[in-house]
Amino acid sequence: MLFDFLKQKHECHHAKVPVDTEEAYCPDCGALVKNKWYLVRCGCCNIKRAARSEYNDIKPNTKYCPNCGATEFYIQELDNINFTDVPYAIYKKVVIRQEKFTTSQIWIEKEEYLLQEKKLLELRK
Ligand SMILES: [Zn+2]
Ligand SMILES: [Zn+2]
Repeated sequence: MLFDFLKQKHECHHAKVPVDTEEAYCPDCGALVKNKWYLVRCGCCNIKRAARSEYNDIKPNTKYCPNCGATEFYIQELDNINFTDVPYAIYKKVVIRQEKFTTSQIWIEKEEYLLQEKKLLELRK
């Protein structure tokens, strides 16, 4: 049962974390989620290229650069998103901390500890 519980956490897509905030706690799983922005640029002429995210990969929409015809590209991670970059930028939700998970672990340990102490007290009677 515990395993199912953990599995569910991993499958959370943090859909309720707003895109326009830098980071926020997911209301569904309690994880601290950061919105990261990426730009795909041409490796030859450096122009911003329209891109999409496919599973965990970021790829340009077209094989060849519309400006210079090159196929090489690189991914640039952005600290801040500019309004002009929004049409090109790809964002990804990255989990920074699983807040709730660590808290619940401490709780289990505490409860077990109290239970053991109770048993010891009963033995002493
Ligand atoms: Zn979540
Ligand atoms: Zn180019």
